[in-house]
Amino acid sequence: MVDICWEPDIERLPAQGLQDLQVERLRNTVAQAAKSPFYGDHLRQHGITAEGVRNIEDLQSIPFTTKEDLRGHFPYGLLCVPQQAVKRLHCSSGTTGNPTVIFHTQHDLDSWANLVARSLYATGVRDTDVFQNICGYGLFTGGLGFQYGAERLGALVIPAAAGNSKRQIKLIQDFSTTVIHTIPSYLTRLHSVFDDMGLDPRDTALRLLMIGAEPHSEETRQRIQGLFGVQAFNSYGLSEMNGPGVAFECHLQNGLHIWEDAYIVEIVDSETLAPVREGEVGELVLTTLDREAMPILRYRTRDLTRFLPGTCDCGRTHRRLDRITGRSDDMFIIRGCNVFPIQVEKVLMRIPQVGHDYLILLQTLDGVDVLSIQVEVHREWFTGDIAALDKLRRKITADVRDEVLVTPRVELVEPGALPKPEGKAVRVKDLRTTEGD
Ligand code: AMP
Ligand code: ZN
Repeated sequence: MVDICWEPDIERLPAQGLQDLQVERLRNTVAQAAKSPFYGDHLRQHGITAEGVRNIEDLQSIPFTTKEDLRGHFPYGLLCVPQQAVKRLHCSSGTTGNPTVIFHTQHDLDSWANLVARSLYATGVRDTDVFQNICGYGLFTGGLGFQYGAERLGALVIPAAAGNSKRQIKLIQDFSTTVIHTIPSYLTRLHSVFDDMGLDPRDTALRLLMIGAEPHSEETRQRIQGLFGVQAFNSYGLSEMNGPGVAFECHLQNGLHIWEDAYIVEIVDSETLAPVREGEVGELVLTTLDREAMPILRYRTRDLTRFLPGTCDCGRTHRRLDRITGRSDDMFIIRGCNVFPIQVEKVLMRIPQVGHDYLILLQTLDGVDVLSIQVEVHREWFTGDIAALDKLRRKITADVRDEVLVTPRVELVEPGALPKPEGKAVRVKDLRTTEGD
């Protein structure tokens, strides 16, 4: 029987063995981190030494690292190796201020490619697959990250990059692509182009989809699977922790295995920074365990999730995270209610007449804050039947109100009318005027 694990010895390492490995690697990581100007000072000030790391609880005495720390010591403040040893850099997708830059040695790049290969293998990708990578190949980690990971696995990789949907479809047809990686918001768009061309993706050789890099609901996944007629797997990662290959669903699609030989995982309360109770939602905090150029200790990701209980039937021992519900900084407050965009998405994607795209606008109208939602209508339902559209608008209004406790103003727009950015989807625009503006 062919093993379902890329590295069975690591992926099925019993919990105690995994923890022993973590402690050993944490000690090395602290020693390595201390070579950088930032951690050198930071760890000394807190009295942290590598020799002091004896068990997993010792992690708790190490201070957290934030995005501000990375930005404040831009560009080389966290570098732990001579510049000649650095082979590549990537940046995260932040839009303001200094970007967050991450450096990699050859060891780091190899280790990352291996994690991506392991993740893809867990979903069922094999060396016989044709893997079309539809995402930006620049500083964004999804391009080169999946490129090298899928190559490591042995697949034939098409570095298709982002955009030009007709060309993407031609590549899918010409090379009988079997696996696509892209962001979920793009897949629904790609499907509309299939439709426009009178084609059905279910008639292609596609057999697996990898979707990630942006928050999406289970409802969106279900839609995508329905449109393409194949399974779609959730891929989670962030540049600070390499990029893709941090956590990934296995073929059972029941949560994201987070690779605990490469990362120590904590989930903390964003306010108190204390660990949440088992199974509660909190902020994901990650420590790299296998990085030379730029190890990061207890990084506050801002991403919100929880551990799923129990073990997975696939036999992997690495714990599973629930789908990311959003970032703590994604949440907006409107008329006293805390709302995550994903809550609105969940409601919308459950309604078949709703198209694939939406935009949340926070506005001040006549001095009052208003939650407006522009919703694309599904092309099959965009018939000009005013009564039907009005009924749909009222249904969306009621369903969103029940979910977020604020009554939205819903505006229906025609399919394809909303702006489509090349990269990650923009779901919220805050246009509210605050006093003094
Ligand atoms: P970047 O470093 O620019 O690639 O952005 C990483 C961020 O994208 C993460 O911190 C998450 O907020 C988000 N992200 C990545 N993958 C997922 C996913 N599968 N589900 C939800 N959010 C994700
Ligand atoms: Zn599993």
